Amino acid sequence: AQVNINGLLELILKRLRPIAGKRNVELIFESIREVTADVDEMKLSLALSNLVENAIKYNMESGWVRVTLDADHKFFYVKVADSGIGIPEEFQEHVFERFYRVDKARSRETGGTGLGLSITKKIILMHQGALKLQSKEGEGTTFTVRIPLTYIS
Ligand code: ATP
Ligand code: MG
Repeated sequence: AQVNINGLLELILKRLRPIAGKRNVELIFESIREVTADVDEMKLSLALSNLVENAIKYNMESGWVRVTLDADHKFFYVKVADSGIGIPEEFQEHVFERFYRVDKARSRETGGTGLGLSITKKIILMHQGALKLQSKEGEGTTFTVRIPLTYIS
């Protein structure tokens, strides 16, 4: 179905704002383009929520999360950037695996199962999209989602 991605992201941020507030993390939405795309709304919402949730959870007190929406003729792009703890290079290729968590002790405090990113990746691939990760330990992380404006289901 045709889904307004701006609206979808605004709703996700609205839902997560109280959680971010508790950690004093600022949530910023930057919409470079108005995007309507043929996607599975429920699944994509879950996929993107997982990324924003992580960006809040693995952040610093008083940090920020910036969600950017952009598009070209073929694809739309959602970037979720955070000012968090980052992911050391040697773990980056593993975080998409089911039940994988970088720091067991720290992760136990923050809670979770280690399934979020594997689900997100699956949903994005289902949309014939791609998910890219850039991160530097101690500086922050950026996940970039790229999805065709129309996908063949
Ligand atoms: P769940 O999402 O199931 O509640 P989780 O958040 O631990 O649990 P994933 O979302 O799959 O699981 O993430 C896997 C691991 O990758 C996390 O445990 C964390 O160590 C690391 N990680 C994910 N996103 C970030 C991020 N934005 N910054 C730093 N580390 C991250
Ligand atoms: Mg998670």
